[in-house]
Amino acid sequence: MSVMNVRRRISTAALAGTTVLGLVTLSACSGTSSADGDEGGGKLDVVASFYPMQFLAEQIGGDHVEVTTLTRPGVEPHDLELQPRQASELRRADYILYLKGVQPAVDEAIAQSGVKHVVDAATLTKLESHGADVGHDHGHEGEEHAGEEHGAGHEGEDQAGEEHGAEAGGDPHIWLDPVKYAEVAQGVGDSLAKADPDRAADYRKNTEALVGKLKALDTEFADGLRNTTTRTFITAHSAFGYLAERYGLDQHGIAGIGPESEPSPARIKELQSVAKQEKVSTVFFETLASDRTAKTLAKDTGLRTDVLDPLEGITDKSRGDDYLAVMESNLAALQKALGAK
Ligand SMILES: [Zn+2]
Repeated sequence: MSVMNVRRRISTAALAGTTVLGLVTLSACSGTSSADGDEGGGKLDVVASFYPMQFLAEQIGGDHVEVTTLTRPGVEPHDLELQPRQASELRRADYILYLKGVQPAVDEAIAQSGVKHVVDAATLTKLESHGADVGHDHGHEGEEHAGEEHGAGHEGEDQAGEEHGAEAGGDPHIWLDPVKYAEVAQGVGDSLAKADPDRAADYRKNTEALVGKLKALDTEFADGLRNTTTRTFITAHSAFGYLAERYGLDQHGIAGIGPESEPSPARIKELQSVAKQEKVSTVFFETLASDRTAKTLAKDTGLRTDVLDPLEGITDKSRGDDYLAVMESNLAALQKALGAK
């Protein structure tokens, strides 16, 4: 629908006045000879897997890239199934930016795409495992992935054995920590510069600008959450582990790292007692996933509900129209819920 149509329109328009040459054409030749406008008028044809990747590609790529996002706005990304036309779109990309471990179907299609410049954001920062008590959807349960607390000396000791490869990731929600997201931004900037060396200077400049904004956001979170009545918050799915760790908070997720896992009655009971002990005021739900359990829990415990947005997509309902704006809203919601002074 609209995302692809918009892209096609722009590409075709861009094509009209420009010479087609160089890298863009070279790597775009592998696919069909359809009128899909892969030539892109000299723009780098970038495919992003879902919103947090799209935002980086747009901010850093600026005018030099044409970004298509596989996950349409408003679609919960974790369970995305790709349309056949999206798979072929993927094969024609010049540069793919994704985050392995969030969307299994996307991971698979990208592995088969044969595209030269494929960047997995998870490799640009360090992943950790969070919330091992709740059960994960991402298929890498409980694996520590060279987490910051784990020195090289531990390797091979903290065994769960067979899955413990370099690929075995932890919690993929790195974009919700502005510091980790800035690390990823740096890596994206470097890789775009490599993929499209003629515009390297612009990509570096855009990267610096974005990293500056993310650092300012980090400072705002640190300052805004320094003094609070409670450090504990309850969320719908366990997306905020990195954020909690960064600012010394304690996240309790109703569901695991993927939003679809249904909590057991025991889990609900546990959360009820956490809420009581830790003086929790608010149960957070989110814009894309079901809010039924969060609302029931809040009702049963007499707590408020509010939105804490995991930013897995931006819609009309989002409290802000881009990553930075929604993160500002998240900070305000956390300050209110935690009783910031
Ligand atoms: Zn998630």
